[in-house]
Amino acid sequence: MYSAGDVRIENVPDPKIIEPTDAVIRVTRACVCGSDLWPYQKMEHVETGRVMGHEAIGVVEDVGADVRTIKRGDFVIMPFAFSDGTCVFCHDGLQTSCIHGGFFGTTEVAGAQAEAVRIPLADGTLFPVGAHADDALMASLLTLSDVMGTGHHAAIIASVTPGKSVAVVGDGAVGLCGVIAAKRLGAEQIIILGRHADRIALAKDFGATDVVSERGDAAVERVRELTGGYGVHSVLECVGLEQAMNTAISIARPGGAVGRVGVPQEQTIPGSEPAFYNNVTVGGGPAPVRAYIAELLPDVLAGSIEPGRVFDRTVGLDGVPDGYRAMNDRKAIKVMVKP
Ligand SMILES: [Zn+2]
Repeated sequence: MYSAGDVRIENVPDPKIIEPTDAVIRVTRACVCGSDLWPYQKMEHVETGRVMGHEAIGVVEDVGADVRTIKRGDFVIMPFAFSDGTCVFCHDGLQTSCIHGGFFGTTEVAGAQAEAVRIPLADGTLFPVGAHADDALMASLLTLSDVMGTGHHAAIIASVTPGKSVAVVGDGAVGLCGVIAAKRLGAEQIIILGRHADRIALAKDFGATDVVSERGDAAVERVRELTGGYGVHSVLECVGLEQAMNTAISIARPGGAVGRVGVPQEQTIPGSEPAFYNNVTVGGGPAPVRAYIAELLPDVLAGSIEPGRVFDRTVGLDGVPDGYRAMNDRKAIKVMVKP
């Protein structure tokens, strides 16, 4: 990506081992993220371009001399952040705050919408799947690199537990995975806030019990009606815009919690006053998806959750610019890239 709206497919030098803790993986599946749409809409021109993409699964092609647990030929999940797996925050299960870590698809670290990608700190970062995975499972395995783990994180931060009422703000891939996560954690009522027919249908399949398609005050009123006038215990904020956050805080019941995973597009958190007077906990941030793979992977392998259904279009590398356009125009929920 060179600037907003300017995505090109180019031949670049093959990624190679730079640090002895690196690996190189051949990307078998990658995808376009909702958060890639923020630079797609706003990025200033970058002379050298930025190799996008922070979600991938693939096969390890090469490892550096100090890599111990990852081997050539391993089939691996690449979380969107790299991490050493050994620092205080990695031990706390917060790999997105790793003191030696960082993010793929930035101007510094090349991303995975590519044939291959260099993986810093391979032992800490990559998760070997181990089991031989059927082709039909690839889409769901790919979601463990970001959107499924991110939806799960929103649900954890929002304290979803059995019997709770939950609202999910946003019907993109993360919101839809949030529905899966809420159901998986035992929520009794799951309200999806969204207005796209195809996404709502999928949300219902994933376990949503109610749909609210209104916006703003009307949405708040509708959620209250659905929850005996009080609002929900847990809100998953999966958008990142001011109005979504305002709605999220307004539909939380007193003592409730908002888990925010939408990348915020403002410097301040709105809704300070209602959050204060209703004792609403507001938390969240970049999901430590690396920490969640071990918990979510067995459900994916068993087919008891199918987050891969969020992909409704597959492109080759040449189709990536069209993939961005389709997601930006809301013509696709999430685009898979098969290099
Ligand atoms: Zn660390």
